[in-house]
Amino acid sequence: QIRIQNLVKRYDHVEVIHGLDLEFEDNEFTVLVGPSGCGKSTTLRMIAGLENVSAGDIYIGNREVSQLEPRDRDLAMVFQDYALYPHMNVEKNISFALRLAKVDKATIAKRVQEVSVMLGLEHLLHRKPGELSGGQRQRVAMGRALARDASTLLMDEPLSNLDAKLRAQMRAELILMRKKVNKNIIYVTHDQIEAMTLGDRIVVMNDGYVQQHGTPEDLFCRPVNKFVAGFMGSPS
Ligand code: ATP
Ligand code: MG
Repeated sequence: QIRIQNLVKRYDHVEVIHGLDLEFEDNEFTVLVGPSGCGKSTTLRMIAGLENVSAGDIYIGNREVSQLEPRDRDLAMVFQDYALYPHMNVEKNISFALRLAKVDKATIAKRVQEVSVMLGLEHLLHRKPGELSGGQRQRVAMGRALARDASTLLMDEPLSNLDAKLRAQMRAELILMRKKVNKNIIYVTHDQIEAMTLGDRIVVMNDGYVQQHGTPEDLFCRPVNKFVAGFMGSPS
């Protein structure tokens, strides 16, 4: 379980996240959605530890982690600006964290096999990132995060560089995957359709505030305000 209490972010003296309170249950796929600039990435980066919090607490399980290094937070992430290790081939990129953790070779081979099949990367394992398309690199970044044995997976617009066909295919893969992986997943997108199709629960943000946190049905049928209704395209 992940819990955020009164999370605040200021850049210089400008407050962009205004005291978020959120709870994410285990094995739930939660989508953070909202317009550009509303604070989705900043929120995710604070959970990940890539950005300091200005105030507030972040609990992962029972631990307050807001002062911990990213590697000590038990999470894996895929971001917009995914960075692969350029000198390592796909197989080595995917298995990087496992090799670092000295997981045994047979287990690593099995994990690499599983995620590369899931993501359609079987034929690319010996290529280097520089020899891949943007979409292929994005899938490798996702494979690298999935291969790790972390309780939480954070994704920031992981499908943003894919063409429409691949994006639809990856979305379908994600729907299948989320039932299998037993992880808390927090997924950021500005795309309402993606939010509605992927999320068990959806957090709608605007302007650094949470507007509503609920199931797709809640948001669509029982929006709490005009912003949510308009953004999610509800009938009323
Ligand atoms: P998008 O959908 O465009 O990715 P977002 O919801 O992820 O948007 P954030 O990147 O979290 O938005 O940005 C939230 C606000 O914080 C924006 O107003 C942005 O300009 C501001 N911001 C983000 N990073 C910085 C920074 N390093 N310095 C100053 N302001 C920043
Ligand atoms: Mg963003």
